[in-house]
Amino acid sequence: MTSGKLIVLTGPSGVGKGTLLQLLLQRHPELYFSISVTTRSPRLGEKSGQHYHFVSRSQFEQMAAQGEFLEWAEFANNYYGTPRQPVIDQTQRGHSVVLEIELVGARQIRRTFPEALQIFIMPPSIAELERRIRSRNQDSEAAIARRLARAREEINAAGEFDLQVINDDLEKALSRIEAALFAPAQC
Ligand code: 5GP
Repeated sequence: MTSGKLIVLTGPSGVGKGTLLQLLLQRHPELYFSISVTTRSPRLGEKSGQHYHFVSRSQFEQMAAQGEFLEWAEFANNYYGTPRQPVIDQTQRGHSVVLEIELVGARQIRRTFPEALQIFIMPPSIAELERRIRSRNQDSEAAIARRLARAREEINAAGEFDLQVINDDLEKALSRIEAALFAPAQC
């Protein structure tokens, strides 16, 4: 059996990665979504084991020390990491795995898995990104400022990725991602 692909989706907070990902997984149930571990508090409606595995900082640090993460990073004062074993198991079974992670983690994956397909989701503009983050109504003013500063850094690194997709129109953005994922292998 050939092993599955590793697909990395990165893009600034508020760019709409979550919505794109949800649609992608609905349309392609054969894709496996890697559920990350985080020390962030759950947002309204988020469930542990579905959106994230929510853990304390000490639990996270212990997992990191034991090498349980494929990659991990600190983002807006919280830790986020990809559990190693499920990703290895799924790719070995031939399933493609999607990681929705930030820039530092994407760079770690690029070093370890240079064959991973790395996609960067761009907002139509920074002003639109700020509007989207604010409309979520879920972050404090300080958290919004941190997320916007980080967004600028991430957008500056978009050129490192295999593909940049502007999320101005959901359907168009999704089609571009699908085309990259399901393109026949180049000989
Ligand atoms: P949020 O708090 O908005 O859910 O996520 C904040 C950022 O953390 C997003 O950019 C998201 O892609 C990223 N993220 C989520 N899970 C992981 C992970 O396992 N590793 C890394 N490096 N970033 C993650």
